[in-house]
Amino acid sequence: MIVPHDPLYVTRPTLPPRDDIEDLLKKIWDSRFLTNRGPLLQRFETELERYLDVPHVSIVANATLGCMVALRSLGIDQGEVITPAFSFVATAHAARWVGFDLVFADIDPVTLNLDPKDVERRITPRTRAIFPVHCYANPCDVEALAEIGARHNIPVIYDGAHCFGAVDEGGSLLRHGDLSVVSFHATKVFSTFEGGAIISHDAKTKQLIDRLCNYGIVDETQIEALGLNAKMSELHAALGLAQLPYVASDIEKRAGVSQRYWDQMSGIPGVTCVCPPNRAGLNYYSFPILVGQQYPMSRDILYQKLQDVGVHARKYFYPLLADLPMYSDVSPGGLDNARRASEQVLCLPLYPDLASTDQDRIIACICDPCG
Ligand SMILES: *Cc1c(COP(=O)(O)O)cnc(C)c1O
Repeated sequence: MIVPHDPLYVTRPTLPPRDDIEDLLKKIWDSRFLTNRGPLLQRFETELERYLDVPHVSIVANATLGCMVALRSLGIDQGEVITPAFSFVATAHAARWVGFDLVFADIDPVTLNLDPKDVERRITPRTRAIFPVHCYANPCDVEALAEIGARHNIPVIYDGAHCFGAVDEGGSLLRHGDLSVVSFHATKVFSTFEGGAIISHDAKTKQLIDRLCNYGIVDETQIEALGLNAKMSELHAALGLAQLPYVASDIEKRAGVSQRYWDQMSGIPGVTCVCPPNRAGLNYYSFPILVGQQYPMSRDILYQKLQDVGVHARKYFYPLLADLPMYSDVSPGGLDNARRASEQVLCLPLYPDLASTDQDRIIACICDPCG
């Protein structure tokens, strides 16, 4: 009898030891402070500001709400937002949910991040924000985007959902832009099960953001803005505090897994690794490959071959956002690189405790898909 392997998923969250959260839970039970910027949330914000070395952190219930609040904090809800056609659906949905018209721009074929030249071509008098994504925590061309934003007087707000712990020469990727948003979802590098944060650069903006996350309430009798509820509970903040001491070693383990993929797959004709692990500062969030013409089969057939041996790779990001039914009114023209990426990309399982024997199964299938 053939013994089937356990299925391998694209990600598997790490969790802190249960003991590590017991003390924090006791604090919650003792204080009966369950949410609304409680003591654990405030401590978590301070620890994140220190860990990420960014000026101001506003913790939110999830990054989708974080993106909505960040865009809404511009004080406008009409006009156009330029965003990549190649991203997770939350990026586009957040902008549309706030009320903006979407303008999809193309991506760079190597980094798979927003192409600044194409952004500039798509600017109109109605453009209100540039909303790029650091895809797989590969840094965007932040200088070009900042320069374009400054020249046209348009804010740049980053969807940095993937970027926890990713750095460039100057520090955290999350310091770029007028605002950045990071996700603490279960599938990301650092998790509070559900959660996220908005990074801002001055105390006044942080205050505005914190109020927008709490219905726009200023005090008992004053409500200054059309806010919503984007608050994180004390329970989720406790999970974050307990998880934070482990994230650096998790990233190190991810680096080892990425390196192993790279060492054994970078020579396969038709397979391009999007995040070569030799670049400093990666957080190894994901291991996307592009399955090109020279590979013996299409991305979709490889995806199925992997499924057949219990390996659940994911087509992040497919379909192209411009092809989704709710965006059929957005012109899909000039998005060739984004379209090609969405047709060729496949994210392989990557998580800190992926066993090397399991990884070898994945690599073997890609090296010899007909075997
Ligand atoms: C995960 C993700 C989000 C949404 O994050 P949540 O915290 O799950 O709301 C937004 N943008 C991108 C690019 C993502 O990958």
